[in-house]
Amino acid sequence: MKTLADINFEDKKAVIRVDFNVPLNDEFQVTDTTRIEAAKPTIIHILEAGGSCILMSHLGRPSGRQEEFSLRHIVDTASDILGVNVKFVNDCIGAEAEAAAADLKPGEILLLENLRFHAEEKSGDAEFAKALAGLGDIYVNDAFGTAHRAHASTAVIAQYFPELKCFGNLLAKEIESVDKVLNNSEKPVTAILGGAKVSSKITIIENILDKVDHLIIGGGMTFTFIKAQGGSIGESLVEDDKMELALEILKQAEAKGVAVHLPSDVLAADGFANDAQTQICPIDAIPDQWMGLDAGPSTREAFANVIAQSKTILWNGPVGVFEMESFANGTISLGNAIVDATENGAFSLVGGGDSVAAAKQFGLAKGMSYVSTGGGAMLEMLEGKTLPGVAAILD
Ligand code: AMP
Repeated sequence: MKTLADINFEDKKAVIRVDFNVPLNDEFQVTDTTRIEAAKPTIIHILEAGGSCILMSHLGRPSGRQEEFSLRHIVDTASDILGVNVKFVNDCIGAEAEAAAADLKPGEILLLENLRFHAEEKSGDAEFAKALAGLGDIYVNDAFGTAHRAHASTAVIAQYFPELKCFGNLLAKEIESVDKVLNNSEKPVTAILGGAKVSSKITIIENILDKVDHLIIGGGMTFTFIKAQGGSIGESLVEDDKMELALEILKQAEAKGVAVHLPSDVLAADGFANDAQTQICPIDAIPDQWMGLDAGPSTREAFANVIAQSKTILWNGPVGVFEMESFANGTISLGNAIVDATENGAFSLVGGGDSVAAAKQFGLAKGMSYVSTGGGAMLEMLEGKTLPGVAAILD
C-alpha cells in the first residue's frame, strides 16, 4: 500500500482529493470542522516535506454552478485550521486554475472551486480528470467518504499518475483499521451488528461470517430472527420477506463455528415515542401492540460479557432507538463495554453509519481504537468490496 512516506514531495505539487464536504449554516459558516481537521495531517506532511498542496473537493449536491455551494465559503476556516493562508481559485479546471497552480510555491496551499460544478466529476469523465491531473505532479487521495465512488477526482484521475500516486493518512488509516478487524485480527473477533434492518446488513454478515468468532445481533433487525424462530414480537420492526434468510444465516454461522448472540430480553414500549409506557419482556414474548425498542438488562449483560473476552471488535449499528433518550441506554451500555475492552487491550472499530453518530453523541468515540469517517464507504469495505478510489491507487 503506497502512502505519503513512499513519495518525495520536495518541490512537487500534490493534487489532493480531500473531503471538505462540510455543513454550512445560513450565513455560510462552517458548523462542523471535523473533515477539515481530518485532512490536516496529510496536508501538513506534504508541506513539511517541501511540497505544495492543490486541494480538490466537492461540497453538497449542486446542479451546475451554484454560489451557495462554493468552496470559497470555507477558505477562512480552512486557513485557521491548517495554519496557512489558503489560496482559492474560482474553477477547478481551465486557464485560471492552471495559472494559480503554476504559481504555487513550496509550503503553499491552493483550494480549487467545487468539483461538482462540473457534471463531469460525477460521471467520471476522463478528459475532466486529465485536466485536474495536469495541475500537479503527484496524486494523493485522502477522501474516504467518497472512495466508494468512481468519480473523476476519486478514481479516474489516478491513471495519469502511474507511479506518483498514494493514499493520504486518513484513507490509509481507514483501510488499515478494516484490515486489522477482518484480515489481520487477533482472536477472539466479535462483530456487533445492530441497526434497523437485516436487508441492509446482509452482505456484511455474509462477508464476515468467515472472519469472526462471535456475532452479536441487536437492534431492530433482531425481530426478523426472533419471529423466524417462532417468537412473538408484537409490533416490533420486522422484515417478513427476510425471515428465511435469517434462519439461513443462523445455519451458516453454526456450520462455520461462529457463536451467534441474539438478545434474550427487550425494553418494549406501547408506542414509538420517548414518553411511551415501557416494560421489560423476554425477546420472544412481546405482547400484542407492544414493540421492542432497546436491549433489555440481561441482554446488555450478556453482550458485555462477550465483548469483555474479545480481542478485536467491530461495531456497526445501534442496539436500540438511541435517538430517543428512553431507548438509548442499551446502546450506551454496549458502547461502554467496548470502551472497557479497548482499555484492556482490544482493538475496536466503529464504522458504517449510526453507531458512529451514537459513539460521538454519548462521548464514547474517544475510547474506541478507531472511529470511521465514512458511512457508505465503510459499509462497502465491510461488505468485502474493493472501493474504486482504493483500487485506483493500488493499480
Ligand atoms: P442502521 O442505519 O441500519 O444502522 O440503523 C440505525 C437505526 O436503527 C437507528 O435510527 C435506530 O433508531 C434504529 N433502530 C435500532 N433499534 C431499533 C428497534 N429496536 N426498532 C426500531 N428501530 C431501531
